[in-house]
Amino acid sequence: MKARRIVVLTGAGVSQESGLDTFRDADGIWSRYRVEDVATPEAFARNPRQVHDFYNLRRRNLLAGHVKPNAAHAALAELERRWPDEFLLVTQNIDDLHERAGSRKLVHMHGEMRKVRCAACGAVTANDADLSVDSVCDACTSSGTLRPHVVWFGEMPLEMEHIGGALARCNLFISVGTSGNVYPAAGFVAEANAAGARTVELNLEPSLSHSHFAEGRYGKATAIVPDFVAALLAKP
Ligand code: NAD
Ligand code: ZN
Repeated sequence: MKARRIVVLTGAGVSQESGLDTFRDADGIWSRYRVEDVATPEAFARNPRQVHDFYNLRRRNLLAGHVKPNAAHAALAELERRWPDEFLLVTQNIDDLHERAGSRKLVHMHGEMRKVRCAACGAVTANDADLSVDSVCDACTSSGTLRPHVVWFGEMPLEMEHIGGALARCNLFISVGTSGNVYPAAGFVAEANAAGARTVELNLEPSLSHSHFAEGRYGKATAIVPDFVAALLAKP
C-alpha cells in the first residue's frame, strides 16, 4: 500500500538535540520540578508566581540564541513541502522549532510557550516577555488575568476534532521522540491502527507504546528522521 495521507506526532525527543530538555528522561524537566507544582490548573490557582517563573525560565531558554531547529525538524518540514497528498504534523511540544524549520501544516495540541491567554476576554496573543501576576492583557487591558497558552494536566488538549479526523483517514502514522506516557497522544497509534494505517515509531529507544507500532527505528532524531524521510520521499 502506498502512503498517501500522513499524520506525524512529535514529542520532546525531537527538540532534545536543539538544547531543550525532555520531560521524563533521567535528567528531564520532571526530575527537577513536580508536575503538580507547575503544570496543573490547581498549581496556578494556588501559586501563580511559581507557575509563571517556571514558564518564564523555559521561554527564555527557548529564545536563547543557541536553541535552533535541528535536522529532524528540517526533515519533517521538507516532507510536508514535498508531499503531494494530505499531511498533518501534530506536536505535543510547546516550543516553536517546527515553525522555525518551515513546518506550516501543524497543530500544537499542548499549546504554545510564545503565546498567552487571557482569562477575562479569552484572547490568545503572542508574547515573548516574562509574565507576572500583574501582567496586562493587550486585548482587554485587564491585569492579572494572563496565563501561559499551554495545556496543563487535567485540561483538554487543543484541536482534538481536527486531529481525530486526520487519524481516521491516515495511511501512515509516524511518531517521533515521544515516550507514549501522556494521553490522549499516546492513544493516537491505536486510532491509526484502527484506520488501517502503517504505523512507525522513531525514537531513541522503544517507548512505552512501542508494541502498538508495526515498525520501529531507534536512535537520535537528527539521524533517524532525515533517513526515514529520505526513504519515504524516494519510495512512498
Ligand atoms: P518525554 O520526555 O516523556 O519523552 C521523550 C522521548 O523522547 C523519550 O521516549 C526519549 O527516549 C526520547 N528521546 C530523548 N532524546 C531523544 C533524541 N535525541 N532523539 C529521539 N528521541 C529522543 O516527552 P513527551 O513524550 O513529549 O511527553 C509528553 C508530553 O507531555 C510533552 O511533550 C508535553 O507536551 C506534555 N507535558 C507538558 C507539560 C507542561 O509543561 N504543560 C507537562 C507535562 C507533560
Ligand atoms: Zn483580555
